[in-house]
Amino acid sequence: MPLHLETPLIESDPLSLAARRRVWLKLDNLQPPGSFKIRGIGLACEAHARAGKRRFVSSSGGNAGIAVAYAGRRLSIPVVVVVPETTTERARALIQAQGAQLVVHGAAWHEANAMAQSMLGEDDAFLHPFDDPLLWQGHATLIDEVAAAAIKPDAVVLSVGGGGLFCGVVEGLRRNGWQDVPVIAAETDGADALARSLATGDRIALDAITSIATSLGARQVCEQAFALARQHPVRPVVVSDQAAVQACERFLDDHRLLVEPACGASLAVAYGQASALADFENVLVVVCGGVTATAEQLRRWRGTFDTMEAAREDARR
Ligand SMILES: *Cc1c(COP(=O)(O)O)cnc(C)c1O
Repeated sequence: MPLHLETPLIESDPLSLAARRRVWLKLDNLQPPGSFKIRGIGLACEAHARAGKRRFVSSSGGNAGIAVAYAGRRLSIPVVVVVPETTTERARALIQAQGAQLVVHGAAWHEANAMAQSMLGEDDAFLHPFDDPLLWQGHATLIDEVAAAAIKPDAVVLSVGGGGLFCGVVEGLRRNGWQDVPVIAAETDGADALARSLATGDRIALDAITSIATSLGARQVCEQAFALARQHPVRPVVVSDQAAVQACERFLDDHRLLVEPACGASLAVAYGQASALADFENVLVVVCGGVTATAEQLRRWRGTFDTMEAAREDARR
């Protein structure tokens, strides 16, 4: 039995109406640790356990770290997650609630990651949040489930951070004979490493992440993501943080499901970027999930955007 669930695939009436075409949702927000990450991380952790590893180490304070903590608990293997001081109380609590050991170290992620690397012993496995072929193989099961339902989309909308989900979905499309299905790759402004790389033809690194969609906050996509983006039909779309947050709020009302802005980026394509979908009748949106946002946090972000908008209005007057 894999550690992930087979998630519902539903046709969304509200999103279909908004996008003026059929919109299917793959609800990976319903995975027990809150995101699709458990597909790949679960598969990788099982492989490491079989290979005799005795401990899992992660340096992600986000959905990847939570997925590693969950996988370790399910497999009865101890987990250490090293996070920087910037990691929210909520994320820390979720990691600890799975029984993982939490180590807080450093002002930024690279310091936490260096600490995690220095802790690695022979019997330890390090779990990368996106750059690992085992992860992609596991993420590909998302498309296997869509293929098993015999619902072939004309395009797949998904969010891109470091590109692990993208690599897995392309692998899934290929292994099901759907290599002709394009991917619409959504990013937020300020976390748009893939869109900028495709525009320049080089795998660029952003100077800084300025988006609130922290789960998309990889400064550079992994090599495999960039390579696949040049082989597979891909259309990058960049949405504002505000559009991503608005999509989360609308999705909460429409489907009673709370997701974080990283996922809202994909939903924003269906809600507000009909032009990106113009060529497609049947669109699959990967609802990648996320556990770090709360209804209260969405309201606070919305308040900030409203204030900024009012200031712009005043400036115009
Ligand atoms: C990790 C994550 C992403 C981005 O996935 P990558 O594999 O890094 O591209 C998007 N949304 C959510 C909710 C995530 O947890």
